[in-house]
Amino acid sequence: MIWDQELAALKEKGLYRQLQSVETLKEDGQALVNGRKMLMFASNNYLGLAQDQRVMEASVQATARFGAGSTGSRLTTGHSIIHGNLERKLAQFKQTEAAIVMNTGYMANMAVLTTIVGKGDLILSDERNHASIIDGCRLSRAETVIYSHADLADLEMKLQSNRGFKKTLIVTDGVFSMDGDIASLPGIIDLAERYGSLLMVDDAHATGVLGKDGRGTSEHFGLKGKVDIEMGTLSKAIGAEGGFIAGSKSLIDYLLNEARPFIFSTALSPGVVASALAAVDIILTEPERRVRLQNMSRRLYDELTSLGYTVTGGDTPIIGIICGEPEQATLLSQELHTYGIYAPAIRPPTVPIGTSRIRLTLMAEHREPHIDHVISAFKAIRSTIKRIGT
Ligand code: PMP
Repeated sequence: MIWDQELAALKEKGLYRQLQSVETLKEDGQALVNGRKMLMFASNNYLGLAQDQRVMEASVQATARFGAGSTGSRLTTGHSIIHGNLERKLAQFKQTEAAIVMNTGYMANMAVLTTIVGKGDLILSDERNHASIIDGCRLSRAETVIYSHADLADLEMKLQSNRGFKKTLIVTDGVFSMDGDIASLPGIIDLAERYGSLLMVDDAHATGVLGKDGRGTSEHFGLKGKVDIEMGTLSKAIGAEGGFIAGSKSLIDYLLNEARPFIFSTALSPGVVASALAAVDIILTEPERRVRLQNMSRRLYDELTSLGYTVTGGDTPIIGIICGEPEQATLLSQELHTYGIYAPAIRPPTVPIGTSRIRLTLMAEHREPHIDHVISAFKAIRSTIKRIGT
């Protein structure tokens, strides 16, 4: 069969992937990976809320009251009181007029991009944007122009040379998922205003993490209210599952009426909705989790840099250690495995060719001794595998 050949080709290129069974434990940043207890440095559970007792309890109670499934799409039978409560809470959290919840972050990006732009419109998209944005752009049928990563001059040049469209939308990740760098929002907002463009920010990795209250990239820069469309996930720092769009009342009403990923899919189950509600409260009332996360992330970034690795990020819990070829990243991941550290290799097409890497992510549940352990592992590995990161 043709797919057997395709699979063989993936193996040949070092790009073959297999599932690992992971069970996150409640103790400090640990997980059972294929039955082995390891330090988890690959999860998006940045604030540890997926295992928070209050968050899990909220899910159990909602399941007992409303049932295991939501029984229909939101516009038929799937909308309950708690779905409405969650959307009001998310709007408050993001300080927007309204919000709408989707089943995944992936679907939230799809929903916006396929609804608000189409033929005759222009999208300007950062080259490192998440796959769900790329797919949304493709499906929207708008003209999509990619600008160089975080390059404001290139963005401006492309805004100048692509005139005459009905609408223009600039779309960027707030925090880039594989590099951990933060979009230059002040400059992007300035360009959007000067060129009359709409602006959408994917805050999947910034929600709960960036800004004093965890409201995301716009709060981080003191620019709340300047982004037309704020997308977020419930699946990362919020510790549950799902995605959302926050913005003006009319934007949200339009998505509710027209967005196919919203209309034609069964609503999130009550347990998931209730956990997200509980988690947002914790994000707002326990800022110390965010502060601990930021301090540990900065320390690890600085130490890995001074060991001579090529490191990305610095201001977020996502740290990339660039290895180059897929095999090198896999080798480093295997080495880390021997030290009891779980951090899989990230390879193309998730990252550009030649930049295969280890993506380390920190969680508020980690403790300083865990960070010490990672640093000493990288130190020992550096002296045995000279090729990596040079
Ligand atoms: N946007 C970005 C930047 C992401 O990293 C992800 C998930 N990896 C998504 C969107 C999709 O979110 P979800 O996993 O909730 O579908």
